Amino acid sequence: MAVASCPERTRIAPPREAIHVIPILMYHSIAEQSEPYLRRWTVTPDAFLEHVTAMVESRRTPLTITQLAEALRGARPLPARPMAITFDDGYRDTIAAASMLAGCEIASTTYITTGFLDRAGMLTTADVGELSSCGPLIEVGAHGISHRRMDELADDELRAEASGSRSVLEEIAQARTLSFAYPHGSHDHRSVAAVRDAGYTSAVAVKNALSHSGDDVFALARVTIEAHTSTATVRAALDGTLRMAPRGELWRTRGYRQLRRWRRAARSRSS
Ligand SMILES: [Zn+2]
Repeated sequence: MAVASCPERTRIAPPREAIHVIPILMYHSIAEQSEPYLRRWTVTPDAFLEHVTAMVESRRTPLTITQLAEALRGARPLPARPMAITFDDGYRDTIAAASMLAGCEIASTTYITTGFLDRAGMLTTADVGELSSCGPLIEVGAHGISHRRMDELADDELRAEASGSRSVLEEIAQARTLSFAYPHGSHDHRSVAAVRDAGYTSAVAVKNALSHSGDDVFALARVTIEAHTSTATVRAALDGTLRMAPRGELWRTRGYRQLRRWRRAARSRSS
């Protein structure tokens, strides 16, 4: 993507809001065009620049997810108006997007599916080494090996996805990988335990809601930014006026998981 210069900071009074609202935005690819399967998740560079302008104007304090989790645990002060930006999967254009954010002093966390490394359109091993050495404004986290839904995996597969992706990234970066993103946001108590046991200190889910200071550091809520998400919606997230994530799971999340399990069982009976 063409890397635009950082939008000029304008003097805008921050909106009044409760200090415990924490917008965590989830991006995938930032590109002019993409493969059909990825179009829904691809934000154009022009739209992204508008979003970055909104981030700058929000007067929020950007944190990596690991920094945010530390603050939520009380290990560091939680800024009055925190926010976090994340990129999932490890598309090659993430480098330009994360670099642009860093140029605006906006921290971000990129979650990499290690089994996708070096594929067409995806980050290479060398790219991950570069991202990992960019300094404190760019964090690299793990997104599993195969991008399968964690709540559909057997215990040994769960351990392999959580630990395996961590070891690959740590070998490349020669540094600890502390944060995990559940592929598709799907997680249950077994996947949370596997991620925790693998040595991560935080994990992000989806929930399409604002995170908050009482959120679970192993299932932080994120707001999905899609191709057609308007800048007004991004501003609403940053203003803290979208809905906040509920404590615990929504009934429809549990219902959807059960539906997937029934379908899987039916498939295995018929095969
Ligand atoms: Zn993903």
